[in-house]
Amino acid sequence: MCNGNCLISVYILFRKSDSYMSKGSQCRCLNCLERFPIKPNAKEATCPHCKIKYRISWPWPGQPKIRGLAK
Ligand SMILES: [Zn+2]
Repeated sequence: MCNGNCLISVYILFRKSDSYMSKGSQCRCLNCLERFPIKPNAKEATCPHCKIKYRISWPWPGQPKIRGLAK
């Protein structure tokens, strides 16, 4: 059940996406947990720390999300 906190989370995500827009988008690697930059609207990205390649989706502009491992 949504108790209202999810609305706040969405608001924070939008605020973050605003700042990422100017600095470039980042995702947290699921393997080594380091943040790494992702090119705008990239479909795939490789973690520079552990070299794992991920599929990327964009639920919001400037807010990349790791979908899973790229084949
Ligand atoms: Zn990594």
